[in-house]
Amino acid sequence: MIENQSNNQKLSFRLHNLAEAIETLLANPPAGISEEMLALLREAISNGEHGEHALPPRLFYEAVEQAQVAISITDLNATILYANPAFERVTGYQVDKIVGLNEAHLSDRKTPSIVYKTLWGRLSQKKPWTGMLINRRENGERYLAEVTIAPVLNPEGEPSFYLGMHRDVTEMHHLEHKVKSQKALIESVVDAAPVVIALLDEHGRVVLDNQEYKKLVGDLRTREPAEVFLAAIQDELGDKWETLKNNDGSFVDRELRFDIGGKRLPRWFVCSGTWFQERDSSADAFFEVRKQSYFLLVAKEVTDLKRQQEEMKMNVLRTMMAEGEAVENMRETLAGAIHQFEGPLNMITAAVGMLERRAETRGEPDPLCEALQNALGSAEEAIENLRRSIPAFAEEPVVPTNLNEILRDVLTISTKRLLAQGVVVDWEPAPVLPPVLARVGRLRSLFKHLMDNAIEAMRDEGTKAPELKIQTLAQEDTVCVIVQDNGPGIPEQLRFRVFEPFFTTKSKANRGAGLGLTTVQDVVNLHSGTIQLDPSYTTGCRFIVQFPIVARSQE
Ligand code: FAD
Repeated sequence: MIENQSNNQKLSFRLHNLAEAIETLLANPPAGISEEMLALLREAISNGEHGEHALPPRLFYEAVEQAQVAISITDLNATILYANPAFERVTGYQVDKIVGLNEAHLSDRKTPSIVYKTLWGRLSQKKPWTGMLINRRENGERYLAEVTIAPVLNPEGEPSFYLGMHRDVTEMHHLEHKVKSQKALIESVVDAAPVVIALLDEHGRVVLDNQEYKKLVGDLRTREPAEVFLAAIQDELGDKWETLKNNDGSFVDRELRFDIGGKRLPRWFVCSGTWFQERDSSADAFFEVRKQSYFLLVAKEVTDLKRQQEEMKMNVLRTMMAEGEAVENMRETLAGAIHQFEGPLNMITAAVGMLERRAETRGEPDPLCEALQNALGSAEEAIENLRRSIPAFAEEPVVPTNLNEILRDVLTISTKRLLAQGVVVDWEPAPVLPPVLARVGRLRSLFKHLMDNAIEAMRDEGTKAPELKIQTLAQEDTVCVIVQDNGPGIPEQLRFRVFEPFFTTKSKANRGAGLGLTTVQDVVNLHSGTIQLDPSYTTGCRFIVQFPIVARSQE
């Protein structure tokens, strides 16, 4: 009986304190209490105010009692006046035993005192405080508590109670920490990797990169190297690109040449890429499985190896080109000789014709005519022999080729000559060029011709600061090469004639057979390309050569 009375007294004490605390709390709701809970309590209070469906204080009590978060109400010295069952579950202390004790009882004595100072500092300003405290359960077990403490203000605006809410976040903290340290570990491994790594989202934006990638931004003088890499690989893969992308596919070891221009040598990378999907972690995708696509690009620089290979290639090339030039010179000399023979022979043919008609009229043979006919026959035979002895061009396979590579080769081969004449080379390649179908040797000699012509023209005219500009551009379906000098240029009236056989603007001393640009035109035609002299360029000579880009099916 006495026990029952004392229990009832305790309950009424709790109800009284709780109701008072909640009413005061609603007048000044602190952060940390869910909106739903506040709405429910406000609803109840407002119903009460209208006098109709007033909810009993017991409802507030039950609501807090059944809450899943540990709730306690203390006096201004943090002495616990009330604790809910969740408090008991989290701390292990039975409610009856903890009521009357200070909240400090929960402390594991590991929380730095500055934290408590901040906590009490906030409360003394009548403001709520939220933070982490290291607590200890009744069984001695340590746990990390996420605590919110709010002053409950009376109508005069003074604190009359403190409302404490806390939950055990040990496991969550542990997982968070694990995730963070794993992320940091992955990031430092990625960062230190001696290869270029970039992770791109489905819009092609770089979301993660490493030091090697960052270095490229400066080195390659491009804002986003990944964009250039992807454009080149996409171009190379053609339709396969979309298939791989849509099926989380991958590609490996695609070689990519990157031309920087100026005096800087090209760089080579071997690229691999993988598409994969990750679950979207944004809030709006919480209730549905939504995936986000990512693309991982890994590129290894192989420039050193390539340069060694290039050097070996250049030596072979020099020999090949010297041989090719000798053959071309021979072709030009023989063609020139035939051309020179043909003039007088045509005259002799005409004379023979006249003598034949005269002999016919006279009705008797003309010994001079016969002698000339014989001479003509032998001369034609000799010319035919000469024609047959013109060496043919070596048969070459037609292969998809990057014109930057060819031009760079020719520039390298011509380095000595360019230096000797003090020619400044302005090399402006498109960083990445689509391939054209080429007989590599023929194209090499084509560009060598154009460059040699430019160098010679500038030398002959004593151009003060000779400059040779070589530029490549990828246009819609063609690759365009510009070879430009600041020499004397070609007078307007001669521009159409320069491609004619045996036409030359060179001085007699330097005159060749005049077949150079004819051969150039032949090689351009052989590659279904076009060549023209730019009429708008008047401070020298500018040739624009265009070749069709290789259709995917032809590769
Ligand atoms: P304390 O002697 O309590 O004091 C530490 C610092 O706080 C000192 O700088 C002191 O000046 C200041 N301080 C203490 N009491 C007051 C006061 N009444 N007014 C102004 N300044 C004061 N602590 C936990 O470790 N875990 C909990 O889960 C926890 N929950 C709490 C819930 C509520 C509602 C409240 C009000 C406090 C809670 N505390 C909790 C804080 C607790 O009361 C102690 O302040 C803390 O545990 C440090 O105890 P201590 O004995 O080391 O130092």
